[in-house]
Amino acid sequence: MKKNELEALVRENIRSLCPYSTARDEYQGSLGVFLDANESPWPTGYNRYPDPHQKALKEQISAIKGLPAENIFLGNGSDEAIDLLFRVFCEPGRDNAVAISPSYGMYAVAADINDIRMRNVPLGADFALPAEALLEACDSRTKLLFLCSPNNPTGNAFDPAALEALVRSFPGIVVLDEAYADFSAKGSLRAKVLEYPNLVILQTLSKAWGLAGLRLGMAFADEYIIRLMSMVKYPYNINQATQELVSKALRTPVGDKIAETIAQRGRIAAALPAYPFVRRVYPSDANFLLVQVDDADALYAHLLADGIIVRNRNRVLLCAGCLRITIGLPSENDRLLQSLDSYEKGDIHR
Ligand SMILES: *Cc1c(COP(=O)(O)O)cnc(C)c1O
Repeated sequence: MKKNELEALVRENIRSLCPYSTARDEYQGSLGVFLDANESPWPTGYNRYPDPHQKALKEQISAIKGLPAENIFLGNGSDEAIDLLFRVFCEPGRDNAVAISPSYGMYAVAADINDIRMRNVPLGADFALPAEALLEACDSRTKLLFLCSPNNPTGNAFDPAALEALVRSFPGIVVLDEAYADFSAKGSLRAKVLEYPNLVILQTLSKAWGLAGLRLGMAFADEYIIRLMSMVKYPYNINQATQELVSKALRTPVGDKIAETIAQRGRIAAALPAYPFVRRVYPSDANFLLVQVDDADALYAHLLADGIIVRNRNRVLLCAGCLRITIGLPSENDRLLQSLDSYEKGDIHR
């Protein structure tokens, strides 16, 4: 996609937007007597506004992810980035977006909130990427295509070459959600944002990095898209505490925890087929397993009565009979298997 084609996808009011200028935009030094932002002068640890551009944190993430800071957007969770993409590219009531189904529920909710029609395209057999059907679902008002790999709730990662082919042939913005990429041997396509101006990669610190409570989502994209998202976001979208705590947490690598989660995933996936009520354990590239059982509602209720909470996906498209089980600590996974033992023996909670 060429630069002018990319610009043509942006809403006109956003293209001509004059963004809010903060006190910290107008004076950027760090020393001096700050009487410009109507802050309280008494130190509380948080009496000053945070850096609206998160410069230090972006440099740190840039080093970890191997992409320039100019290609990084930080949001209040990935959910903020998803909403901003609708607000930047989609004309309410007129444009539409396309997504694979089943997938992460926030794409459709953000579409509804922004009054954008979502066209859901079912995955193929064994949850395959329906590349042709996705392109067929698009028309001249389709601005965004949402893909998720590894996909939630199915757990599978798509072939990177097939994803890249879609980026090349789709005439709008391809949003590839890689929330679970750290758990997959297929890796990430984020380096490709330097090659494809219409590719946006979403990642998050909520899963592999263990920081869901701090709310830090990342979008990687062409500098132009990053600038548009930064113009539209709330000026201080990442609070001071999150910037500080994330910066500290990023100094401790999480490779060992990821490896342990992958090992535990293999252990549970190997143990499950022995239970007579387990019909199918879907292959997973994520930190959860999608499991099809004889009676998902009954097993869900049994686990719940045992104090084990999983996600019941029984009523989700293509997921009839399925529970989504997150991989926990080894001891938590032991408890899961014990509860499945008691379910098998018929010690069913009533
Ligand atoms: C968990 C998850 C996220 C994370 O969202 P945050 O707002 O960053 O916590 C994003 N996408 C998918 C598919 C997820 O499952």
